[in-house]
Amino acid sequence: MSKGQRKRLGTAYHEAGHAVADTVLGLHVTNVEIVRRKDTLGRSSSLGILRYEGGSRREQRSIARDAIISAYAGVEAQRLVETPEVYADDADRNNAFWLSRTYCVMPRNCSYVGDDSHVAYLERLRTEAKRLVRREWTKIEAVATELLAKRKLTGDRVREICARVTGGPMSPSIPLAETSQQWRRRRIAAAAARASTPTVHV
Ligand SMILES: [Zn+2]
Repeated sequence: MSKGQRKRLGTAYHEAGHAVADTVLGLHVTNVEIVRRKDTLGRSSSLGILRYEGGSRREQRSIARDAIISAYAGVEAQRLVETPEVYADDADRNNAFWLSRTYCVMPRNCSYVGDDSHVAYLERLRTEAKRLVRREWTKIEAVATELLAKRKLTGDRVREICARVTGGPMSPSIPLAETSQQWRRRRIAAAAARASTPTVHV
């Protein structure tokens, strides 16, 4: 296998890691692709935290915690087929940190953002991501294989592949906010325009 092929394989597993983690955690993947863009080799996109039903801080925090695990799942899946470059998950780590800070996904004994307890807590979420990747490896392999052949998959297709691997029904997804009005109200209430940015793992 050439170096380029190995890198492409690594990218497919990386994006499949994000997409499968999101799917099994009930988050909505919109699409996943391995297409080279300006400074990325691929991406897996899912809906922003505020798009989900249930507006309490606690609910948002729980969804954000899962999104952090998914952010770590990309490079952890990649690691099992290729040695990633040192900075391969920079954007993912920044995203995990941003989610943690924005939605207060922090340990109780945290005294300030980025202190030792906060860093240790994020490392525990990374360990959860590693476990998830091993547990869901057959699904990740199936999604990565189809991604290598087609380059782009919809979130629905990812769910279909995951269900086929399990041989059962599709895993349930977290319900979305019912109406656009409701969604708009919550967005205004959140008073944070940037919190409406979709989650993009690269
Ligand atoms: Zn990533």
